[in-house]
Amino acid sequence: MKDITFSRRVALLGAAALPWIRAVKGQAKPKSVVISSANRNNGGVNCCAKAMEIIKGGGDTLDAVIAGVNIVELDPRDNSVGYGGLPNEDGVVELDASCMHGPSRRGGAVGALRNIKTPSKVAQKVLAETDHMMLVGEGALRFAKAAGFKEEDLLTEESRIQWLVWKRQMRDKNGHTNWESGIDAPPAAKKIGELKRLFPQADEALLEEALRNAANPPHGTINCIALNEKGEMSAVTTTSGLAWKIPGRCGDSPIIGGGLWLDQDVGGAGSTGRGEENLRVCGAHTVVENMRLGMSPKEAALDALKRVARNFDNDEKRLQAVDLNFYALRKDGEYAGASLWGTRNGRGPQFAVSTGDRESHHENCVYLFERK
Ligand code: ASP
Repeated sequence: MKDITFSRRVALLGAAALPWIRAVKGQAKPKSVVISSANRNNGGVNCCAKAMEIIKGGGDTLDAVIAGVNIVELDPRDNSVGYGGLPNEDGVVELDASCMHGPSRRGGAVGALRNIKTPSKVAQKVLAETDHMMLVGEGALRFAKAAGFKEEDLLTEESRIQWLVWKRQMRDKNGHTNWESGIDAPPAAKKIGELKRLFPQADEALLEEALRNAANPPHGTINCIALNEKGEMSAVTTTSGLAWKIPGRCGDSPIIGGGLWLDQDVGGAGSTGRGEENLRVCGAHTVVENMRLGMSPKEAALDALKRVARNFDNDEKRLQAVDLNFYALRKDGEYAGASLWGTRNGRGPQFAVSTGDRESHHENCVYLFERK
């Protein structure tokens, strides 16, 4: 068949060709880009720097993003990911992770995995060595052990104290808790002093955080997406999920299409934040499909957040309780971080970026609503 020229194709296809044209234009000059959520202790910046180092050394994009998030999984100070993550309501750390490899168009995931510090690596094994997509719970642990992963206790002393503070804060309508002597228990331990007496080994900052986290169960995650100069892409999401969750709860992070999606022809997206609300809009897949239809990464992510807001009838008061962020990287190297909420000073939360020609750094997310 005779090849038709680019401009002739455009003329023939008209407006319907626009997304396709953008994608083709975007694919012309790929450059190396890695983005991730920000995370504590410079976790996101370190993750992107590591992934970029591997990409520049000629490594595969999936190996690169996995090595990047491993830094955060192994850091006990990040209590939302991997080792040191806040536990479920039984005091057991349960981890979720998923990954996608663009060139082979394969995915792998694990859910509610216990006792293994790096669930992202187990997800990569599922992708590389099985014809399954997702393993959960006991089966995922057995698979990991068979693959040579070491079983370890993931609960750090800091996370154990936070879990105990949460349990102590659970009171009946009379203010009674099982953890104090007698039915005439004193009021909830709101003052740090009382907690200091109970946990003399803990510093004040930890106890203050524990009190905040008891009242508002926190969640956190790292998502990382990479593109190399050949235009190859991969992505990973890994988390300890929602603190104090019911054992067995999986959020969006291990759900391929929810907390992570990548299409080698278009780009990738991932999320951090309240997983249940993301799953109701199949967020990461929605963001990538939006980009396929011609939206920029910023527009694509904001559109997915608008769908979340729509599920709450755009009622900002009810939405206050929801935190959700998307990260999107298109195949031409354009990227964005987008958040449901901006901060009071008119800035979005941050995300991490490494473009190869610039040191790994933070940039601001765009956002939908501003906290009053
Ligand atoms: N998305 C994760 C979950 O719902 C938690 C988070 O990112 O904050 O499990």
